[in-house]
Amino acid sequence: MNCVGAPLVLMEKQTLSVRYANANAAILFGRGLEGFGGCSVEELVGHEATRMLGQIWSVAPVGVPGEPFLIRAQVQGQERILMVQVTKVAVEGEILRLFTFLDAPPQGSVTLAGWQENVISLLNWLPFGFEISGTDDQIQFANSTFKALFGYTQDEISNIEDWWRLAYPDPDYREFARTQWYESIAAARAENREMTPFDLDVATASGETRTIQFRHRTIGNFNVNMYIDVTRERSYARELKVLADTDPLTGAMNRRRFFEEADRIHAECQKSGASATFLMLDIDHFKTINDRYGHGVGDAVLVEFTRRCRDVLRPEDRFGRMGGEEFAVVLCRPDDASVHVIAERLRQVVGSEPFIIDTDTLKVTVSVGGAICEGTESVGSAISRADNGLYDAKKSGRDRVILR
Ligand code: GH3
Ligand code: MG
Ligand code: MG
Repeated sequence: MNCVGAPLVLMEKQTLSVRYANANAAILFGRGLEGFGGCSVEELVGHEATRMLGQIWSVAPVGVPGEPFLIRAQVQGQERILMVQVTKVAVEGEILRLFTFLDAPPQGSVTLAGWQENVISLLNWLPFGFEISGTDDQIQFANSTFKALFGYTQDEISNIEDWWRLAYPDPDYREFARTQWYESIAAARAENREMTPFDLDVATASGETRTIQFRHRTIGNFNVNMYIDVTRERSYARELKVLADTDPLTGAMNRRRFFEEADRIHAECQKSGASATFLMLDIDHFKTINDRYGHGVGDAVLVEFTRRCRDVLRPEDRFGRMGGEEFAVVLCRPDDASVHVIAERLRQVVGSEPFIIDTDTLKVTVSVGGAICEGTESVGSAISRADNGLYDAKKSGRDRVILR
């Protein structure tokens, strides 16, 4: 211990009295080596510093120096800032505490020096994957979160091509990921800024897919990359979006979402000079169905009605529940003839076969109003024309289509 150039003090675990101190400790604390025998920590560094040491030494792992920290100590009657490292050492089965004391250089530089030693612990502690590679894309450092996140050993992905192959097993997606990555990095480097973050789905060693947000900054000759696991957040966001867009009873689009889609399709059609068509559907005498069979059967009719309508629509058409027993359809670029055909098909798919709900057999019909929206007409105006058609269909006997 006397060979070590820093003051060292070896302490009993329980009593915290000095078992041994080296020559440098004798100089620091101003007492002969024999003067340490059995003396307490408090006698060396004062009451306040002892209290702090007590809080810190419990976390020091055996055999590894703990984080260096600063204490305000009373040494030989004078206040001094000391940098202390505690190591638990096992000597012949007995656990002792080894204290290293250093005088803290002024202005906090010691704190930085201490952190430099511990920067690896700091990086391992980060809650996201952190990795540094050189300009050749060879990984120089990956923190333990990175390893835990993906499960690949540094050997398995020592070559960048191994990473692309393992993390993106689907060749098309791999190409997409690679393009995204290199184009985003190039754009960021050109402007000397952080890369605009983006998400990719990455295959892990255990075979799961995780959604990772990638962040990157080129610093000097190093690529500094962060990998944030956003799998759960993205999946919650998707679920919430579906809930926010969907009518819970029928699974059809709700009114809000339907109008978003109507605006989008309307804008696309206007751009290309095509027409969009709006149909308004209202189940006939639905109140009577509720009154006669009960609300539960009424609900089941709404569900079956939705299924039948969707069945005869094309994937590019949109079907939404406006509320109650009222529904709407926007048809994408139909010609005039097919508007009639589709509207009639909707009417017939509802009315031609009875609805069988449990043991009840019900005749259900629907009235349909429609408007073909051309030129500069707004969505609102076309829908109001379609509503007029629906009103006329109801007035003239129901179970019919009237286009305006
Ligand atoms: P019309 O042929 O003129 O359209 O007559 P109708 O009876 O269908 O129209 P009305 O507007 O008088 O009645 C609609 C009924 O739809 C009244 C309401 O209680 C019922 N309703 C609205 N939403 C729901 C629902 O989610 N489930 C059920 N079972 N009934 C509903
Ligand atoms: Mg109605
Ligand atoms: Mg009705």
